Amino acid sequence: GKSDGKGQFRFFDPALSATLKSKARLKHGLLEAIEREQFTLYYQPRVDTHTGELLSMEALLRWRHPALGMVSPAEFIPLAEASGLILRIGEMVIDMACAQLAAWQRAGARVVPVSINVSPKQFKRGGVKHQLTAALHRHGVAAALLEVEITESAMMGDQDEIIAELAAIRSLGVKLHVDDFGTGYSSLSQLQRLRMDVLKVDRAFTAELGTSREGRVFFQAIVSMAHALEMSVVAEGVETEQQLDILRALKCNEVQGYFIARPMPADDMQVMMERRFLL
Ligand code: C2E
Ligand code: CA
Ligand code: CA
Ligand code: CA
Repeated sequence: GKSDGKGQFRFFDPALSATLKSKARLKHGLLEAIEREQFTLYYQPRVDTHTGELLSMEALLRWRHPALGMVSPAEFIPLAEASGLILRIGEMVIDMACAQLAAWQRAGARVVPVSINVSPKQFKRGGVKHQLTAALHRHGVAAALLEVEITESAMMGDQDEIIAELAAIRSLGVKLHVDDFGTGYSSLSQLQRLRMDVLKVDRAFTAELGTSREGRVFFQAIVSMAHALEMSVVAEGVETEQQLDILRALKCNEVQGYFIARPMPADDMQVMMERRFLL
């Protein structure tokens, strides 16, 4: 195989050799998945905490594996990132999301914005703004219908290129979300400098809402900080009615999670657009 010669000594460790083999197999599988168009996007609604109105949705990647069935991105994104394949996959995700938005529009659906997850590797390589502009143009979709999620940890430290690219993307009219907020220790001044539009609070904090007073205090602090910076707040991973009630009391704007709806194929999502009020 292609990895021969790089680490032959590893064959002395059977466990490591097996891992390498399966990694090589996984990488080969990912290449095949790109070529055979086995990737698809699922969509998960985000709704207004008070009215339950569908406001936007997140595109989540799925691999329709011929033998294994639907494979979660948690299984393959890490290797895609390590191997550089995320650059091709990421560009494909941008195109697929724009193509779907155009298809919904042609079908006369009441379309709401779609946010896509962009890997820090894509930002490091650069050209994300160009890919977004090209895909929007190719499919005839307004920039206001596309949003970008970037994890809090990807923006930490001195990431001047990432910051410049984010500003350029925002100037297109594409909203920026801080993903997994609360896990990366970013500072208030950083958030202000970055001019992000939406804070997505990591689901670990949503999970604590019903169990501890500290959890609610923490969430409350995030909400007031975000609102002071004119950012909207999304609670991720809302699984119970009790969590939803607390989030209403805390004036968190938007909620996303299994309690509202699981990620679903585009056709099912179109039905949700018709229903409009999902709570
Ligand atoms: P994420 O961006 O934090 O996405 C949210 C994850 O939480 C999704 O997992 C979603 O299905 C799951 N989730 C939603 N609601 C609930 C809930 O109520 N309870 C629980 N326990 N989980 C919930 P998924 O789809 O498996 O994606 C996992 C991660 O893979 C994503 O985490 C994101 O980091 C990454 N990912 C997904 N799609 C893409 C993509 O197109 N590009 C890149 N670079 N990464 C992606
Ligand atoms: Ca996300
Ligand atoms: Ca997240
Ligand atoms: Ca996450």
